[in-house]
Amino acid sequence: MRACFGAKTQQLISRVFIHPVGPSAAVRWRGAQSRLFCSPSTDEEKPQPSMLRHLTSKIKATGPITVAEYMREVLTNPVTGYYVKNNMLGPEGDFITSPEISQIFGELVGVWILSEWMGAGQPKQLQLVELGPGKGSLASDILRVFSQLRSVLGEASVSLHLVEVSPVLSRLQAQNLTGNCSQEADAEDEPVYRSGETAAGLPVSWYRRLDDVPTGFSIFLAHEFFDALPIHKFQRTEKGWREVVVDIDPDKQDQLRFVVAPSPTLSSSTLVQADERRSQVEVCAEGGVIVQQLARRIVEDGGAALIADYGHDGTKMDTFRGFKGHQLHDVLSSPGSADLTADVDFSYLRRMAGGDVACLGPVTQRTFLKNMGIDSRMQVLLRNCSDPSTRKQLISSYDMLTNPDKMGERFHFFSLLHHSRLAKPKKLEGMKLEKKSPALLPVAGFTRLKFS
Ligand code: SAH
Repeated sequence: MRACFGAKTQQLISRVFIHPVGPSAAVRWRGAQSRLFCSPSTDEEKPQPSMLRHLTSKIKATGPITVAEYMREVLTNPVTGYYVKNNMLGPEGDFITSPEISQIFGELVGVWILSEWMGAGQPKQLQLVELGPGKGSLASDILRVFSQLRSVLGEASVSLHLVEVSPVLSRLQAQNLTGNCSQEADAEDEPVYRSGETAAGLPVSWYRRLDDVPTGFSIFLAHEFFDALPIHKFQRTEKGWREVVVDIDPDKQDQLRFVVAPSPTLSSSTLVQADERRSQVEVCAEGGVIVQQLARRIVEDGGAALIADYGHDGTKMDTFRGFKGHQLHDVLSSPGSADLTADVDFSYLRRMAGGDVACLGPVTQRTFLKNMGIDSRMQVLLRNCSDPSTRKQLISSYDMLTNPDKMGERFHFFSLLHHSRLAKPKKLEGMKLEKKSPALLPVAGFTRLKFS
């Protein structure tokens, strides 16, 4: 019953937090910059002739391409795409993310998942589905919490499903999560292109698309995934909305430039809201489709989705940017050599989720982590740690994750839930609770819980 559910979540958190989890507890901080604190790259550019050649021949053949098509080709082209070829995460890569900074992050998300599973009535099956799992660090930290709380999960059958487009990263994830216990599928077009088992015997499967993941009660996670999906860019002009497209610079044939399409495109006519007030808009239609798929699955099979990313609530205009070697990088220069990203528009995701699911957030990362008990966790870790340099790392990773000037307020948490999760318990009906905001209901992370 929801009335005592907040207390149950607190118990879960306390059980996880009394332990310093492993010798490397919370020191996965390597001092690299995140995508937030960067100045423009001054490094000499490595030419990426094949991607540039591919794009210029495409443009010569069929005309300027949309920013979405540019981003899709650059990031996920099956042969030369940035995500397909690179391991971009970490100090030697192009950016670093919260799960890579501290394992506390994944532990708290693990507790969130368990509390939502409990809130759904502890179904017999729990599929953990992660979109864009990077190095597999978040999943690995979550599974460690699951092992610690095995008795809570009881007889539930738990499985891990990873949606990953990059063969390089999927191999790294397999190594981190299963050691050498995974195999690639025999045929290239199998929906499950790799499968394996964790040391604790939990099945892990890899897919290229969310559509291929089996149905069933699932908790979906997407951390810094939606920002990597292609966006369309639109510009308000005197003649109405026009799409921003990528063309070859007429003065330099090996350089690309942005131009505004002279006439409306299907996207400019359909993707911009009629009451839009901004002068420029970015719309991630692919992200919208994925959110619709998540919503449908949650309605039909139960479960929840937790989306964490940097973003805004429909207020920003121009957030498309590149990162290379932890520095900002011109998005059109040397395509394929740098990460491309755009802030997530949570108001758009909420609109695309529709009314069949409940949406919570976005709340800031600082709020979410504090609501999940990061401060208590830090106290336990610091109490158990006497090494001065580890203590320093713990404190700096905590600061990076929660400081409002660092990742604390740029990153947001947003959740899709089955409506039954927020339905009023029968006993309380008639007590005029209808007007209370859903934020007051105890969904962990989105509601403040008390820690003793
Ligand atoms: N979640 C991880 C990694 C973020 S980077 C973290 O926070 O550390 C983005 C991840 O999404 C990478 O794993 C990348 O390969 C994957 N990715 C990007 N576009 C994708 C797509 N269209 N389909 C599936 N995975 C994608």
